[in-house]
Amino acid sequence: MIELRHACLPLAVLVCTSATAQGDFEAQIAETEVTTQQVGDGLHVLFGVGGAIAASIGEQGVLIVADQFPGMIPKIRAAIRELGGGDIDFAINTHWHFDHADGNLVLGPEGTWIVSQENSREQLTRDSVINLVTQSRDQAAYPADALPSITFERHMRFHFNGEPIDLLHFGPAHTAGDAAVVFRNHNVVHMGDVFNNAGYPFIDADNGGSLAGIIAFCEGVLEETDADTVVVPGHGPIVDTQALQDYVAMLSTIHDRIEAMISDGASLEQVVAAGITAEWDELRGDPANFLNRSYTSMTRPGPAP
Ligand SMILES: [Zn+2]
Repeated sequence: MIELRHACLPLAVLVCTSATAQGDFEAQIAETEVTTQQVGDGLHVLFGVGGAIAASIGEQGVLIVADQFPGMIPKIRAAIRELGGGDIDFAINTHWHFDHADGNLVLGPEGTWIVSQENSREQLTRDSVINLVTQSRDQAAYPADALPSITFERHMRFHFNGEPIDLLHFGPAHTAGDAAVVFRNHNVVHMGDVFNNAGYPFIDADNGGSLAGIIAFCEGVLEETDADTVVVPGHGPIVDTQALQDYVAMLSTIHDRIEAMISDGASLEQVVAAGITAEWDELRGDPANFLNRSYTSMTRPGPAP
């Protein structure tokens, strides 16, 4: 239970509203050593503070997926140098949330090309509020030099360090602008926060995310993978496609249970109190915020996601 959850940093980060919490966060950045896990020849995953980073390091240079926080960038650069890389040529934002993209604020001005799905760039151009149920977190618009210079709608392909690298978008999911990144020759996919393997997923329902969208996005990715694909979640340990299939099955079951309750006229409070996630709570923790965001995404006005 703890193993799945201890790597989940967003909530610790998100409470940084007081001076003390800000100090705690800075201390956490200062104390954190980057650890790395090799997932292929020239392909590594870096863990620090914030979302997991994939790094392709090879003859053409360095491409990373997700960039954590400004305070982590020197440590990330040092880790990449230790793995044989140099400057970071490309940084792909899996989505716009600060704990995966604030590193743009350093990398962009220093010359890294930043890439994202179009909706994530659009969101980064304006001030955002992330509603986490028990609190909300403001994320200010990024300056122009920290914004993605290259965007895509549904699909784009890099040919870099000897392999095709596909950026895929299957509609709104965790946010409205998620990208999964598939390293084709290595058979590795980085899922961003569409796949949270450190608890229940957070759904940014106030900014276009939805439970149905997360399920559909994961199903889209699974069609691009096979039994041997290595799956890198936004948070939590690296796993295989079976774990992603299990995650989809869990979310689909929960979705159907919520849907049945909604059609019976259940309120949010009734859904949260009904124990409909009981078989997964020991592993994934308190479901209240997840159920809140799921219910919200399933009952908000407008076209079904
Ligand atoms: Zn996120």
